Amino acid sequence: MPNVEGLIKYVIGYNPQADVGLIRRAYEFSANAHQGQLRKSGEPFLKHPLEVSLILARMNMDIASIVAGLLHDTVEDSLTTSEDVAKEFGRDIADLVEGLTKLSKVEFMSREEKQAENFRKMIISMGKDVRVILIKLADRLHNMRTLSALSISQQKRISQETMEIYAPIANRLGIGWMKIELEDLSLRYLKPDVYTDLAKKVSLKKAESDKYIQDVIEIVKKNIKIYGFNAEVYGRTKHFYSIYQKMETQGIAFEEIYDLTGIRILTDTKVNCYATLGMIHSLWTPVPGRFKDYIGVPKSNMYQSLHTTVIGPGGHRVEFQIRTDEMHQMAEEGIAAHWKYKDKGHAETKDNQIYNWLRQMVEWQKDLSDSKQFLDSVKVDLFPDVVYVFTPKGDVKEMMRGATPVDFAYSIHTEIGNQCVGAKVNGKMVPLRYQFKSGDTVEVITNTNHVPSKDWLKFVKTPRARAKLKHVIKTEERRRSHEIGHKLIEKEFHRIGTSITAVNKLENLRHVLNEYSVKDIDELSVLVGYGKVSPRQILKKLFPESVEKEETKEKEESPKRVRVPGGVKVRGIDDILVHFSKCCNPVPGDKIIGYITRGRGISIHTPACPNIDELDYDKERLVQVDWDTTEPITYPVRISVSTIDRPGVLASVSASITSSGANISHAEISTTEDKRAILNFVVDVKDLAHLERVIQKVEQVRGVEQVRRLMGR
Ligand code: MN
Repeated sequence: MPNVEGLIKYVIGYNPQADVGLIRRAYEFSANAHQGQLRKSGEPFLKHPLEVSLILARMNMDIASIVAGLLHDTVEDSLTTSEDVAKEFGRDIADLVEGLTKLSKVEFMSREEKQAENFRKMIISMGKDVRVILIKLADRLHNMRTLSALSISQQKRISQETMEIYAPIANRLGIGWMKIELEDLSLRYLKPDVYTDLAKKVSLKKAESDKYIQDVIEIVKKNIKIYGFNAEVYGRTKHFYSIYQKMETQGIAFEEIYDLTGIRILTDTKVNCYATLGMIHSLWTPVPGRFKDYIGVPKSNMYQSLHTTVIGPGGHRVEFQIRTDEMHQMAEEGIAAHWKYKDKGHAETKDNQIYNWLRQMVEWQKDLSDSKQFLDSVKVDLFPDVVYVFTPKGDVKEMMRGATPVDFAYSIHTEIGNQCVGAKVNGKMVPLRYQFKSGDTVEVITNTNHVPSKDWLKFVKTPRARAKLKHVIKTEERRRSHEIGHKLIEKEFHRIGTSITAVNKLENLRHVLNEYSVKDIDELSVLVGYGKVSPRQILKKLFPESVEKEETKEKEESPKRVRVPGGVKVRGIDDILVHFSKCCNPVPGDKIIGYITRGRGISIHTPACPNIDELDYDKERLVQVDWDTTEPITYPVRISVSTIDRPGVLASVSASITSSGANISHAEISTTEDKRAILNFVVDVKDLAHLERVIQKVEQVRGVEQVRRLMGR
């Protein structure tokens, strides 16, 4: 069994300043948390996190990653919470562990064409910290190395997932050695027969193959000396999965594969890579179409190398890879190479660089089957339109950018949305208008008695939440209107000694209901509550005689009855309280629309009035209205005249207004610094045509530059 001292020794080997105490504490913490737990193999569970951290140490990862490796299963598999980890080891490490816990709950799609989606989920889950994935890969690698302890069906499932998700991710992150090991381990469990057969054949042929390659290497070395290059030459045994792939894709038998071993040349400079290539091509004939220049055009995972295949001695094909030491390090370690000097103080901006690199890599990758769709969604800020949040159970939910806890609540269930009173994000209370960030864990707080607020419409983002909210607000308003209307009707009926119950039995009730296109008194009450119908009107239709009698009496008592302002006909309904809005001052000729206020009758606006826009959620209360110009009425309109500031200009403008038959009910004058005057008037006009005549007249006054009608407040 490995022990923590071995781990520490290894870490100090590449990072002499490492905080050894921290590693020891993490080990003890993990030992405590996993106390008594055993792996399927019967070994103490603690061995697993220790091995994972050893893998991370071999990747020369920073101390935070090593510590997180030791702790990676504590929150997932024991009673330890993320807060415990934060208290003991700080936020940075707790975030890594939390990322891993979240990642372990992500369900990946198993079909190969969904790889882009899986990779996406992976990137999302890690937040901005790619170390989460590196630790996850180390975790998976150790699990694969110890897979034999599990049942056959588990072996297959985990290997399938490794082959489809983790090996490609290792590849995209440029960690060549890990990709190879994961692929070979997966093959071993997915196709045990193929694997055993391959292993046997390779070992049989290896001696022969090795001998051949050794001869080729000798020739290359000799020539390198002659040319005076600074280069090393190695034989490179191909891994099982790549041999298997070659047999599958090219449809050939094992016996037909000659190049079980390739040759790798490491040199010092880019120029020497090309020079070495030239030398190889001058020694043997290159196979057409097999030369690849990944130095000039690096792969999406930053892999750089020259590849070529030549017809070697005896007519056998030999593959060459030529690269610099630096390129080789990148090919083996990929993104992990960036941590090399992290703890030595060279890495202030490294995190940023790595993130940019990852982003670029994602943008560059072209080898995915549905990469187009993938690229579309990751172009700018990785994911510009969406955020990914987690439910308390760890499910990932995709939300529109700008989505709030209310959107989240409605996305789960309408009732949860309606009853939402608060929310916690990452364990802390947030306002309901809080906008999610990717990686947030969201918990909605509900109260069964709660009714949604109209104000929510100002910040909800998703169409679903908006629609549900409008619906529930409308229903609630209807309920309230019914309540009010019902009371008003009952009160009115009471005055003439009847009641809703009594009226329900009346012969002509049906007739009256039909007139308002409603099916019963309840619906009629709603109309009254909305202000569309007055209780008096209903009464008048049901009991014309008694109302008439009462009205005559009223007339006698108070001859100065309030006159309903005329000038506007409301479609289908007459005798209703109408008033003109102060905000947009419509005049006959303007397009108008009526809005049923609560208890103040109908207010008349222009459709463009900003107030109407604000009320847009309640379309039901808008009514069609028309001008009725049979009554000679004037309407106030505000106009603004800008003029050159000269003596007597106010008098001239006022005169032109009155001469066109309009009365001025209010005037204001102000001067500006650039020798201009602004004259604001309220003029009473008959209609739009009249207003236009006034404006034209004013425009003709000397010194007037512009005349505008003022809308809004
Ligand atoms: Mn684990």
